[in-house]
Amino acid sequence: MRKILSKEGGPGQTIEILKKYGFVFQKRFGQNFLIDPHVLDKIMGAAHIQPDDLVLEIGPGIGTLTQHLACAARKVIAVEIDRSLIPILEDTLGDFDNTEIIHSDILKVDLETLIQEQNQGKPVKVVANLPYYITTPILMDLLEKRIPVTSLTVMVQKEVAKRMCVGPGSKEYGALSLAVQYYARPSIAAHVPSNCFLPRPKVGSTVVQLDVYDVLPVRPADERLMFQIIRASFNQRRKTLVNGLKNAPGLSLEKDEIHDALDRCGFSADIRGEDLSLGQFAELSDMFTKK
Ligand code: SAM
Repeated sequence: MRKILSKEGGPGQTIEILKKYGFVFQKRFGQNFLIDPHVLDKIMGAAHIQPDDLVLEIGPGIGTLTQHLACAARKVIAVEIDRSLIPILEDTLGDFDNTEIIHSDILKVDLETLIQEQNQGKPVKVVANLPYYITTPILMDLLEKRIPVTSLTVMVQKEVAKRMCVGPGSKEYGALSLAVQYYARPSIAAHVPSNCFLPRPKVGSTVVQLDVYDVLPVRPADERLMFQIIRASFNQRRKTLVNGLKNAPGLSLEKDEIHDALDRCGFSADIRGEDLSLGQFAELSDMFTKK
């Protein structure tokens, strides 16, 4: 019979396996292992894994979530940076013939080639209890490179989850909200208290579901320019958009042409970046492209 981790809840089985291998937590790798079966069920519920899915897991830890994924998917590829976790994973995943462990930094894996080889280029599902120190680089790397992914079901820091999901008018709204929402539809799947992890993180956690768009709903003529404008608008958050853009390095826009573009979009002269939706940023960026 398969040994399923955290079935009973509580840290018991996790502590037992960590002791067996003399494992020492590495703070620098953002290691907070899930020990709550209800949270695992919520992640699985949000991820909607189908029997023919290939799942990419980032940071499997001791394999608790990996086991759940392996029970539902055709195959799970789990990428783990910490060498000392590899023998543990070989043990906990030993009874599953549909898991593959890659010992690497996820940011160094050629995911495009991996997905081509393992799934004939068809999109995969990403599921992860992410290491919080690199949440944004991991997610933006996957989204910006347009790695074939249908959805990402990820545990992130609660504040980061909020920033990903909010729209204009909220104080959390910013460049991350717009970057994520350009590629995917985000929704909150569950808030997770810190006692569901070992060790307990000092911050709150949230499971976010990102459903990646097949066709982008907003199509600026120059995507790079739109994101330069977005970053410039939020770099100096309390300034008006005109001042934010005028001072932005790399944009070299004159005050008059910014006023003119705002006017042609029908935006007021004292509007701030935090007031504009993604579609409005695209509209504004197109005004400069047309020129
Ligand atoms: N999935 C496990 C769980 O839920 O119990 C562990 C999650 S823990 C929050 C994050 C995991 O990501 C750790 O196992 C850590 O070693 C791993 N990790 C950290 N940085 C990584 C990186 N750059 N590439 C791959 N794995 C990484």
